Amino acid sequence: MQLYKDQTLRVHNSLTGKKEIFQPINEGHIGMYVCGPTVYSNVHLGNCRTFMSFDMIFRYFKHLGFKVRYVRNITDAGHLENDADDGEDKIAKKAKLEQIEPMEVVQRYTVDFHNTLQQFNLLPPSIEPTATGHIIEQIEIIKEILEKGYAYEANGSVYFDVIKFNKDHEYGKLSGRKLEDMIANTRDLTAQDEKRNPQDFALWKKAEPQHIMRWPSPWGDGFPGWHLECTAMSTKYLGETFDIHGGGMDLKFPHHECEIAQAEASTGHSPVKYWLHANMLTLNGKKMSKSTGNNIYPYEIISGDNNILSKAYSPAVVRFFMMQAHYTSILDLSDDALQASEKGYNRLMEAMGSLDALKTGSTSEFDVAVWKQKCYDAMNDDFNTPILIAHLFDAVKHINLIKEGKESITETDKTELENTIKAFVYDVLGIENQSLVKDDSNALNGVMELLIQLRNEARANKDFATSDKIRDELTALGIQLKDGKDGTTFSLN
Ligand SMILES: [Zn+2]
Repeated sequence: MQLYKDQTLRVHNSLTGKKEIFQPINEGHIGMYVCGPTVYSNVHLGNCRTFMSFDMIFRYFKHLGFKVRYVRNITDAGHLENDADDGEDKIAKKAKLEQIEPMEVVQRYTVDFHNTLQQFNLLPPSIEPTATGHIIEQIEIIKEILEKGYAYEANGSVYFDVIKFNKDHEYGKLSGRKLEDMIANTRDLTAQDEKRNPQDFALWKKAEPQHIMRWPSPWGDGFPGWHLECTAMSTKYLGETFDIHGGGMDLKFPHHECEIAQAEASTGHSPVKYWLHANMLTLNGKKMSKSTGNNIYPYEIISGDNNILSKAYSPAVVRFFMMQAHYTSILDLSDDALQASEKGYNRLMEAMGSLDALKTGSTSEFDVAVWKQKCYDAMNDDFNTPILIAHLFDAVKHINLIKEGKESITETDKTELENTIKAFVYDVLGIENQSLVKDDSNALNGVMELLIQLRNEARANKDFATSDKIRDELTALGIQLKDGKDGTTFSLN
């Protein structure tokens, strides 16, 4: 089924600042690249939102029948602490701090990243390449840029010559910056600087003797610059020009600007047709920051183990909450907002759960065909999930009215409604029905509380045969009781 033939999709292209009709380079096929995480710490909730936004976009393209190649990289080398090409490599720094191999840091946080995204029901990308797996490709691109005259070598490092590039191309077009302004607003270079201009950026950095992550190159031992890996990996798997490049808004400058410059300098043409940027997540109205404590990790929301929220929220509720905002808007996370989302989520799941048993009649008072196209129109308008969700709740209203016998629906319309709502909720928004899982754990907690209470009563009555029986039978079922000074707790094996 190729639904895309009947739908006109518009996307907000950051490069032009306009909403444009989306037309892939090769009909029916989409190449999409999204900048992945630097795996040196647990994945941030803000990053989760970005990846969730692009997961929704990936899902919608697939739903429309496109063949999508979705590439999302893992940055496992080359990302320095600050944008001015100095500071330590983030992964090497963490490795030193914990006295482990850099690749142990990479492994640990890649696993965390995958686990977290899986909990939020993100689909894996088609290809997930790593920077360290593409050193040869990066060196090749540096050679090309040097050959074209847009880079220079200095003391074993190679820098991109932004001023030279800007003479023939336009540096700053994605972020709307002018090179002259950037030059006017930066300090002059010091005598020790290897760069010809402060705006130049590293393609290859010479590794100092203490730097552990290093590779041989024509310019000596070193490591690639962070921006270069995305150019190398996107070009390798999607070609010199591909459909969509996505990432967080914060990556627009300098990261994505540098990607454009590298690609144009090496191939001579623009690498990306549509640039899409996802906006950030704030917490209680303020920017999230580890240093101020205004921060929460995904696992803390799911476990409820935090000082910010009143209770735990299921990953499906968190995902539903994220989908209630447009991906280009700033979204504020708070306890009130999550509680409201949980209520909405439960209402939606309940209505969907009652669809099967819904009685049908000879007429429909709910125009399912019109409603269905409205859902598509919302998604076709730059993936407007909040509007889509508003339409989904319109359907919920009608489902409830039909349930109460106040409206009627035909069998055909009911089937159409059921298929459409399931497709949008489960396949496109990626929202799972987790109520069964939640109910199970609630029921288990209730039963365990009761058994612990019965055992305590038996012990108080010196009926040790009964109290031991409860404990031993539970042990046989794989449930361990632990008596502590604050009472008895249980754990599952
Ligand atoms: Zn990138």
